[in-house]
Amino acid sequence: MFEKILIANRGEIALRILRAAKELGIATVAVHSTADSEAMHVKLADESVCVGPPPARESYLNIPALLAACEITGAEALHPGYGFLSENARFAEILAEHHIVFVGPKPEHIRLMGDKIEAKRTALRLGIPCVPGSAGAITDEAEAKAAAKELGYPVLIKAAAGGGGRGMKVSFSEDDIASALETARMEAKSAFGDDSVYLEKYLEKPRHIEVQILGDGRGGAIHLGERDCSLQRRHQKVWEEGPSPALNESQRKEIGEICAAAMRELQYAGAGTIEFLYEDGKFYFIEMNTRIQVEHPVTEMITGVDLVNEQIKIAAGSALTLTQDDVIFNGHAIECRINAEHPATFRPSPGLINYYHPPGGLGVRVDSAVYAGYTIPPTYDSLVGKLIVHGRNRNEALMRLRRSLDEFIIDGIDTTIPLFQTLVRNSDIQNGLYDIHWLEKFLADGGMDGTE
Ligand code: ADP
Repeated sequence: MFEKILIANRGEIALRILRAAKELGIATVAVHSTADSEAMHVKLADESVCVGPPPARESYLNIPALLAACEITGAEALHPGYGFLSENARFAEILAEHHIVFVGPKPEHIRLMGDKIEAKRTALRLGIPCVPGSAGAITDEAEAKAAAKELGYPVLIKAAAGGGGRGMKVSFSEDDIASALETARMEAKSAFGDDSVYLEKYLEKPRHIEVQILGDGRGGAIHLGERDCSLQRRHQKVWEEGPSPALNESQRKEIGEICAAAMRELQYAGAGTIEFLYEDGKFYFIEMNTRIQVEHPVTEMITGVDLVNEQIKIAAGSALTLTQDDVIFNGHAIECRINAEHPATFRPSPGLINYYHPPGGLGVRVDSAVYAGYTIPPTYDSLVGKLIVHGRNRNEALMRLRRSLDEFIIDGIDTTIPLFQTLVRNSDIQNGLYDIHWLEKFLADGGMDGTE
């Protein structure tokens, strides 16, 4: 096992990784920008290194500074968390060249899944069902029209290098496909520096269901069930739960086994998530994330498996200690992503937290790095923390979520807690009747109007 690990991230995920490392008896090194010197992950780590000024590209994305931080502190491994450099294959290679272990999959697998066109080709080869779409990249209008005609409108134009819902445009007919293509390419170019796009059938009422997997890089792989992340705003997940209210036991087992078998074939190492859209009883692969995800606690709560602990053990060269039969699903979990944003307008609200009181009690988990007296800088994403609840069944989880949200006090900034207080009381949500468009429609219909 490693003696010292560097955590190349900030906020709640830095703290999450720090906790797993401490439980494994591994010393921790935090890195931070000058905007984060008072951050909780810095205070709790054994050592810390300032890696640059506030902009992420000069600090959390600054590869030479991160390498120097490993060198100075003698860290043997680096955990990238999510975002930042977590899906940068070149970074993983550079670390290997410097004999530092990247806690994540092999660079070739990061690269393969980072290109969504290649990822879909691979998925098809591995027997994973995919959304019908163009065979490869679409380069001009004529090609787009031909592909769309074959698929049938509406179609979705997506960036090959996509992420975070950017570079995606729906086209409803031949009349708007040229402008959708151009907008998608422009967005893709500015967000990812790559304007390759492809076409997919646009599904009109799917759910987003994703399967958590773990592989040991030597042909061992298991699945840890699914998460339903259909409640989204601007293609960003807001509320995640597991198991999905839409699946039955045999569907769960079937898709889980397809994913685990594919990962065994790939000899995939580490944690990963295979994302699907699900409509009318069918699964359609959209992408694979080769890292730990924001919503991983949902799976941890229903399986009892510490996913970050498993990631670190796999990176240290250990074979999987869990078999598929060891993964026992227990009850239901729901996660709410609480952002420093106005709950109705979603205007960012960084600033000083005057008073902070997280909820507690049976089945309640709060993953957050904020504290009373902490000032949320305006520079990074607006996630303040994640509230995760667990119950013996979905109803118990919903009741627990309701009372936890009512207990949660974050004073001084706007947060999205009131949004969740409204959602948890909504009958569609209570009945599990929602698809990926539900939340946008609810908001457009004035579901949060009148919220101060
Ligand atoms: P990103 O990497 O940008 O997050 P994804 O491919 O994971 O992109 O898609 C993000 C979200 O966009 C999905 O969860 C879903 O809401 C929507 N989406 C993606 N593909 C389709 C599709 N073919 N039809 C309808 N919605 C889609």
